[in-house]
Amino acid sequence: MASGKATLKLYNTLTRAKGEFTPLDPANVRMYVCGPTVYDFAHIGNARPVIVFDVLFRLLRHLYGAEHVTYVRNITDVDDKINARAARDYPDLPLNEAIRKVTETTNAQFQADVKALGCLEPTVQPRATEHIAEMIAMITTLVDKGHAYPADGHVLFDVKSFRSNGEVEYGKLSRRSLDEMLAGARVEVAPYKRDPMDFVLWKPSTPEEPGWDSPWGRGRPGWHIECSAMSEKHLGEVFDIHGGGIDLAFPHHENELAQSRCAHDTAMMAQVWMHNGFLQVEGRKMAKSEGNFVTISDLLNTDKFGGRKWPGEVLRLAMLMTHYREPIDFSVARLEEARNLLSGFWSHPEFMEGNDEAVECSVLDALSDDLNTPRAIAALHQLYKVGDFRSLGPTLRALGFAKDPFAADVADVQAVDAAIAARLAALNAKDFATADRIRAELLEQGIQLKDAKNEAGERVTTWEVKR
Ligand code: AMP
Ligand code: ZN
Repeated sequence: MASGKATLKLYNTLTRAKGEFTPLDPANVRMYVCGPTVYDFAHIGNARPVIVFDVLFRLLRHLYGAEHVTYVRNITDVDDKINARAARDYPDLPLNEAIRKVTETTNAQFQADVKALGCLEPTVQPRATEHIAEMIAMITTLVDKGHAYPADGHVLFDVKSFRSNGEVEYGKLSRRSLDEMLAGARVEVAPYKRDPMDFVLWKPSTPEEPGWDSPWGRGRPGWHIECSAMSEKHLGEVFDIHGGGIDLAFPHHENELAQSRCAHDTAMMAQVWMHNGFLQVEGRKMAKSEGNFVTISDLLNTDKFGGRKWPGEVLRLAMLMTHYREPIDFSVARLEEARNLLSGFWSHPEFMEGNDEAVECSVLDALSDDLNTPRAIAALHQLYKVGDFRSLGPTLRALGFAKDPFAADVADVQAVDAAIAARLAALNAKDFATADRIRAELLEQGIQLKDAKNEAGERVTTWEVKR
């Protein structure tokens, strides 16, 4: 792709405004996105930040050059939910071994899911358990600088110590006062906390729980410190973009920002904070108790949702039909709309021949306007309508749609031809029941038969993929 000069504008949660993006160092544009806690299959809500920030990663690579962008997405592999799952699923194994099984299996599943969604691998996917030394070092710095204090085997961050010009800075990202945060958080206030909003950097582990030796005894890190330590290690003390779902703005990102700025004495952690809106399913909050909880794997590999499997490309397009900051209602109707649109494109597969320089500028303009993917998709549709296939292919590729998601439907042409021959034989033998059954079975696989007669008056059956 050509290195375009479109101006990129991004909405920044920190300033509550859309502004022009200027990288700190255009030779190394740096983005950090909070990744999964690996204890269970990722659900379709988790897919949203993965897809949204993949689109941004691709756009940054297009604008600044692929080798000038570093994208870090962490893997949280130490967490109490992981411990609980390990004890439940592998009761006969030592806990640490059981934990490794849970995190390895879940991570492998996650990587396969997001690959199917057309996402590029981030530049680095650091694991929390491989950065414990960095976390301990950062906590030590925070204690030394008077921003954290050990208490009762824990180390806590002192939120009121985070000040600028005498004013408390904690809460500026999510725009909450300490009082509001306290009212909203309903945290159980441990007696050893100086302020109820002080949060855990380190906590003690029982002998059975995973733990590491530290100046404060054997224990494990809190969740927030992971991202501060790993982003510093892989991106530096300050970087360009920090992303995640809107639920992470408070307290997770507020805490990350406080830790990093206090540890490094910097005026910022990231220039731009980006948050995707929430996803609900068929009009309701997704929850196991609602019976509308859908994993990425359910959609890709089973017919639990809408009675069919959905190719990753269809899920990706369905997600991008809504602007990333808006809430999404994920539904069968939405998936069908995405499927129809994509199958229209793929009914002219010659479009994939276009060369990569031809990315359509109206699509680039839309993406450069705070990732306006609905406008980009409308522009794609326009290219399709006017038959500009030279631009359609490269533009689709640039958005992460690289292969025909319906190709699997027509995988075994020979089997279809054999079934047609068998049906013809059945018809000739007046075995209409068998003939109808074969026709119905093919239809179930998405193969529609068409009967016609040739000049000699013989039956000729052709077929097409029903999309
Ligand atoms: P978690 O594993 O819960 O920490 O979530 C991983 C990522 O998925 C975070 O960026 C969350 O903000 C995001 N996420 C979780 N649930 C949803 C949802 N229903 N809609 C959109 N994003 C979500
Ligand atoms: Zn994080």
